[in-house]
Amino acid sequence: MANETTMAVKRALVPGSFDPVTNGHLDIIARSASLFDEVMVVVARNSSKQPLFSLVERMDMLTEVCQPFRNVSVHTFDGLLVQYAEVNAATVIVKGLRAVSDFEYELQMALMNRRLAEHVETMFLMTGAEYSYLSSNIVKEIARLGGAIEGLVPKSVEERLRKKLTERE
Ligand code: ADP
Repeated sequence: MANETTMAVKRALVPGSFDPVTNGHLDIIARSASLFDEVMVVVARNSSKQPLFSLVERMDMLTEVCQPFRNVSVHTFDGLLVQYAEVNAATVIVKGLRAVSDFEYELQMALMNRRLAEHVETMFLMTGAEYSYLSSNIVKEIARLGGAIEGLVPKSVEERLRKKLTERE
């Protein structure tokens, strides 16, 4: 007999600035999609970083590349992530871990978030080995300097990135 636990939908958030989404992000999203019933990719609106792509552009790119996953949707949030999780009945926050350098900040965030909302669990997925050196920043830097970014970001993002950088010149 199905009990309350087996009936409950496991909903996870995958937050980030996604400026732009890379194949490293996509790997984390795809793996989350196979672990949870529903995955909400949430794009931070407020980020202290000055983004290259507008919020709408970042969401458009994500929506396009997440289309193959039937249980993934794309949203935006402002303010406290744990509050957003609670309002949307999400019980898990999924973060990707690359190098040791990610660890310190992520540990601090995870502990603070648990203090703020103890029922929201942060889970870490190790980066795919082929993406361990990949960040949105490095991709933008390489593209800006005219280097090859094939295989680092989805094809549609590659085109948008080239277009954006040409517009800016
Ligand atoms: P970035 O650090 O590339 O600017 P975000 O701020 O959008 O990216 O990060 C969102 C989440 O995605 C974070 O949990 C980050 O650790 C994870 N992430 C980013 N790039 C990768 C990657 N190459 N492999 C695994 N996780 C990643």
